[in-house]
Amino acid sequence: MGLCTSSLSGSDRLQDKFYQTKKWKYTIKDRTKLKQVENIVKPFILDDAVYKRVCDVMLDNFNRGLGKETNAEARVKMFPTYVRSVPDGTEEGDFLALDLGGTNFRVLLISLKGQEVNMESKIFLIPQHIMLGTGMQLFDHIADCIYKFMKEQKLEKKTLPLGFTFSFPCKQLGLAKAHLTTWTKGFKCEGVEGNDIVQLLHEAIKRRGDMEVECLAVINDTVGALMSCAHSDRQCAIGLILGTGTNACYIEKLENVGLWDSDYNDPKEVIINTEWGAMGDDGGLDFVITEYDKHVDKHSINAGKQIYEKMISGMYMGEIVRLVLEKLRRNGLLFGGEGSAELSQRGRFYTKYVSEIESDVDESDFKSTKQVFDELNLTNFTDEDCRIALYVCSLVSTRAAYLASAGIATLLNKMERKDVSVAVDGSLYRFHPHFHDLMVEKIEKLVTPGIRFKLMLSHDGSGKGAALVAAVANRLRDEEAMKEKDSKPNED
Ligand code: ADP
Ligand code: MG
Repeated sequence: MGLCTSSLSGSDRLQDKFYQTKKWKYTIKDRTKLKQVENIVKPFILDDAVYKRVCDVMLDNFNRGLGKETNAEARVKMFPTYVRSVPDGTEEGDFLALDLGGTNFRVLLISLKGQEVNMESKIFLIPQHIMLGTGMQLFDHIADCIYKFMKEQKLEKKTLPLGFTFSFPCKQLGLAKAHLTTWTKGFKCEGVEGNDIVQLLHEAIKRRGDMEVECLAVINDTVGALMSCAHSDRQCAIGLILGTGTNACYIEKLENVGLWDSDYNDPKEVIINTEWGAMGDDGGLDFVITEYDKHVDKHSINAGKQIYEKMISGMYMGEIVRLVLEKLRRNGLLFGGEGSAELSQRGRFYTKYVSEIESDVDESDFKSTKQVFDELNLTNFTDEDCRIALYVCSLVSTRAAYLASAGIATLLNKMERKDVSVAVDGSLYRFHPHFHDLMVEKIEKLVTPGIRFKLMLSHDGSGKGAALVAAVANRLRDEEAMKEKDSKPNED
């Protein structure tokens, strides 16, 4: 497991980066042009007072989501997950896991034995027509994929428990009962919202009638990341996703969970899935919204929803950068005013380009930046254009990292634990060259002095985490069955 902590070398790297990206200014001789560029990118530069205000808004949203009287109206839903304890390392057995929630759909086979974890997995595509089709089509497709995977692994005859990582906002009614509240991240399948996704999965498996699979637990990818890291690090108490979307979960005391409707046994805690992507849907973040964010939101399939997510996550970041570059070009400040069909095409500037461009530290050659420009069929560019594009990318990704940091700092301050590990998963965090360092730097500024934290990369949380939760559920079920058997001694 790649363990990343705050370190001197991290902040050195960061200073280096700022030096690199800000240096472009001094190379622009034309002061009027410099002013014009600065005017266009200015809305992305926010000072610490603004991020502190974001923290205040977040805390208010978290509390409203947790409150019994306020939850119904709250945008940030703070769903209790029914996951009460982190794994203790005794989990054992073979489990299937599903990971659905954005860019890829995966089926996994996970063998647990103490700290030892073995995994086989296969990625399946969810075609666009299924993402926007009916729920029945979606779950039939999922059941097909499970069957294909089991056949390949020669498991079709086996009875296997399954853990389902389903990363959309769900109201959880039990460990294996979760009603989808609303689709996000490009999915919109008819007839699923408001329904129990475990039941829909079981019905699809039954329609096929050729496999024995029972879903014992449904979790969110944030919970998967937390569980997976907690398996080896007992301080882990926050799970964060920075991928297609963004979301976080954390361990909360039951006394703070107004909507808690189950027992108050030890441990008197439960993991809360914040669904923080919806922050700002009530206008609460309007003080940081730019015209580019408004544009992205307006053209999404869920306009007005997931405002915080749209300023941060991988599904939207490239598009924000594209809009800024296009504006600079239209104003004659980039590419001599000459663009390309690709640059003008919505969604065509991929978020991975942001990582690629920002990995150009040696200004003299701009190798990756030029390659991205080539891919976008831009021909008329100079080193100055490369420098401006790098600056734009760095401003947009830095704002995203700082906004996510405000969320994490708010959770850390709320939890009041001395030492917390944050498990992070998602391609944006994994592949962006500075996201980790930027987050450490900003969280340190926003967190209450004395609280120590560490951001660690969670490897395959969505698979391993789901298997761990299914394993615990399986053990509890076996124990229940034993108890029942013991209470009816005459029936054998
Ligand atoms: P998911 O969130 O769907 O489980 P990922 O964690 O892989 O999947 O995140 C996918 C998102 O990450 C996509 O929106 C994509 O734009 C973004 N992404 C992929 N590669 C990179 C990269 N090299 N740098 C930054 N973002 C990336
Ligand atoms: Mg994922």
